[in-house]
Parts: sequence; C-alpha cells; structure tokens
Amino acid sequence: AVAEPGVAVLCPVDVRVSPPSQQPTLATGRSAGREQTKRRRAAMRVAYRNAREEDPLEEIEEGEQERQQREQHELEQQRIGQLVEKTVAGEIPVHALETQLSDCDLAVRVRRGWLTQNTNKSLSGLPMQGFDYKSVHGVCAEMVVGYVPLPVGVAGPLLLNGKQYQVPLATVEGALIASTRRGCKAISESGGASARVTKQGMTRAPVLLFPSAMRACDFQEWIESADNLPRVQEKFASTSRFGRLQSVKVAVAGKQAYARFCCATGDAMGMNMVSKGVNAVLDDLIANEFPDMQVLGLSGNMCCDKKAAAINWVEGRGYSVVVEATISGDVVTKVLKTTVQDVVALNTAKNLVGSAMAGALGGYNAHASNIVTALFIATGQDAAQNIESSQCLTLLSAANDGADLHVSCTMPSIEVGTVGGGTGLAPQRACLDLLGVAGASTETPGANSRELAMVVAAAVMAGELSLMS
Ligand code: ADP
Repeated sequence: AVAEPGVAVLCPVDVRVSPPSQQPTLATGRSAGREQTKRRRAAMRVAYRNAREEDPLEEIEEGEQERQQREQHELEQQRIGQLVEKTVAGEIPVHALETQLSDCDLAVRVRRGWLTQNTNKSLSGLPMQGFDYKSVHGVCAEMVVGYVPLPVGVAGPLLLNGKQYQVPLATVEGALIASTRRGCKAISESGGASARVTKQGMTRAPVLLFPSAMRACDFQEWIESADNLPRVQEKFASTSRFGRLQSVKVAVAGKQAYARFCCATGDAMGMNMVSKGVNAVLDDLIANEFPDMQVLGLSGNMCCDKKAAAINWVEGRGYSVVVEATISGDVVTKVLKTTVQDVVALNTAKNLVGSAMAGALGGYNAHASNIVTALFIATGQDAAQNIESSQCLTLLSAANDGADLHVSCTMPSIEVGTVGGGTGLAPQRACLDLLGVAGASTETPGANSRELAMVVAAAVMAGELSLMS
C-alpha cells in the first residue's frame, strides 16, 4: 500500500488499519482503483484520529493547560470574592472601583458581586462580557454593571440630496424598521428627497438674579447691544476651538434675567461646549460689568434642554431642518397602498386638527419620535434629547393636479453630533460610519453633524409616509 508523503510518516496506513491479508488482490480496472482510493482515504482519516488520540504527550500538555487555566480561574474568583467583601464592607467605595483597581473589567465584575449581595437578585440575564468598559469610563456611564444589547436594523436605501443612505435604527419596537423602510422605498422610487438646514445653533440660558428688575433690564440692554457682542463672543471663543457665539437674547422676569446664548458647535451636539463658553462669559461679566449679578443656575430652563417647550419650536435649537419629496401617484398606489386624496385628508384630520385638539407642542406628526429615538440610540446621540428633536410638522398636499403627493417635514430642533459623548463608542461609531458621517468633518467643521441632521429629518419623513398609509 502507498500512502501519500507525510501521511506515511504519521501512520503506516496498511499496517495499522488494513493488514495486507485483507487488501484486495484483484485491484484492477477503474472502479477497483476508486474503491482502493476511497478505502485509503477512510484509513487515513482513522489514522489521523488515532494519531491524535494516541499521542500521550499531547494529552498531558492539554491536561496541564486545562489545569493551569482552572487554577487561574479559581484564583481570579477568589480575588473577586475578596474584593466584593471589601466593597460590601465599605472598604472600597463601590463608585470608585474603576480608579481603585485600575481595571474597568474587574471593576464591573466586583460591582456585580456587590449588587448581587445587596439585592439578592441574579444578574445572569444582564450581559457582562464582550463590552469595552474602558471606553465608557469617565465619559458615558458610572456604576456600570453590564450592558443592554439592542438589535440594530437598517432602513433604506433612502435617497436624499442625491445620495443613498442605509439608516441604522436601534429599536425593540417590531415593525418600526420595516415600516420606515417602506417609506424610504416610496421616497427613493419617486426620485428622492431634498433637505436643507435653515438654522443651526445650540443654546444655553442661565438664570441670573439682579438686585432689581431695573438692573435686570440694564443687563439685557448691555448684552443685546451690537457694540458689546464682539467682546462677549471673544470671551466665549477663548474656551473652544469650535464653539462660536452667534447671539444672546434675554427674557426678563422681575429681578431675574434668562440669557439665551446661541452658538455654533462644529460637529459636536454642543451642550458641553456651550456651557463652558457661557460660564467664561458670566465670570467675565461679574468681574468687570455686573458685580451685583448672581448666577442662580447655568441652565435656567429657557435653553430648553430635554423638555417640551415652545421656545425650541419657535426659535429652533440644534439643527432646524426642512425636508420634502414628491411621491409619484403610482408609488402612492403600489407602495403606500393608498390614494393621494385619502392620505392628504388623513394628515389634516390627524396630524393637524387632531394634534391641535390635543394641545400638542410641536407634535404635528404621526410618530417622528419613533425614528428619531431609534436613530439617536444607534448613532450614540443623547437619547433624552428626542423630546425636542422629535418636534415635527408633517404636511401633505396634492401635487401635479392631484396626480402626485407632496410631503414635507419641518423639524426646528434636531440636536445631533458626530463627535463627543456616545458617538465615539465603537458600535455607535460604526453606525455613523455607515451613514458616512463618523467623527469630525475634516473639510468643514460641522458638515458631518449637519448631514446627520438632514438624514434624521428624511428618515422621519419616510416613517411618516409609511404610518399614514
Ligand atoms: P458636546 O459639547 O456635544 O457635549 P464635547 O464638548 O464633549 O461635546 O465634545 C466635543 C469635543 O470634540 C471637544 O473637545 C472639541 O474640541 C472636539 N472636536 C474635535 N473636532 C471637532 C469638530 N469638528 N467639531 C466640534 N468639536 C470637535
């Protein structure tokens, strides 16, 4: 018998598996040859297996490795157990495990042990492994004990301003992605959507207390004066490479003044940036112009962050975007399965009159917040800002003598960024990258977040079209 080179060295095939006495003696013709080859191969497979199983050295090595791993694991468990005890006893502050242990993964393990002891609840359903805890430490979350995985799906292609997007949506609401995708299809098959940013500026409005209402008015006059703006802008700009103050508008309420600072923030959503700038301006004003001014709060709620408020609806916050498309009549019939007349009538009755009856504030839409929130979570935005970011006016009207459907969404306060916060985390960054807007724009600071804001508005419009039909 002939074994292939290499195989013969490992195992003498005919000796160990098929003794010569059992080998075919009439191995003639093609079929006999094939039969022989088949047997040899089978023999080789068995021989390989035997060789592996029978190598005592390998077995010992494997056993040794396993033993070492087991011992290491036991030592680790012991160490974690000791650290948990110390944490429970208050010897290590539970909030400071990351800094005290200089190991974010270990800190999470110990904190889970502490939590289990504290609550008597199993955390087995909350995943721990497979997450880069270092990336969130000191930036995104504290007292971390695990993470909540969310499915991410894509809606698209969405043709917007001549470019195709696959829009990542993180949600557990069944049918949301499929429905948005249907809207994208209607838009894309009708030639796409067009969007424009009509205004941009992140705002912060500290509440300032003066000895009298008249002094509050003095402050308003001073800071709103065109003569003083450059000085305030200079102070503001000294705190950031990207933050640039555009305007300050003051509302006086008795002895209090609410100064709404509005700033360009490049590709950052801008809350941190604008807060730093405003702080520097206020320090300067107290030192040099208004020593009798007291800062009651850096945010006086006229900003207005994460609350439903008319000021964002009217004045805008973040990106103000308008997006439109003309959906051809046959797409309305075939994809949206409705008629132009019906969908226009429903929009008026529901999104305009119905929302007016409900006293809605910026809620003149079908479900903008569904898409905004799913996109925000997927791309690392501040999900709590979905409140103002979801303010949206959806308008539908007949176009081309009733043959087609015109749709628009006007969204005055989409707050997004492509740098800072959760946008730098690997999964969220991958979603931003899918849209081609990850990180800081190298050409024009702000271009990436501007594009993202328009994608948000267009995806919302897709969602509106689908839900309304
Ligand atoms: P936010 O103000 O949205 O909370 P951060 O201030 O935490 O965001 O993060 C923005 C950071 O990114 C700042 O340190 C800023 O200097 C930096 N940065 C780098 N490139 C850009 C850019 N193109 N636009 C805005 N910020 C940028």
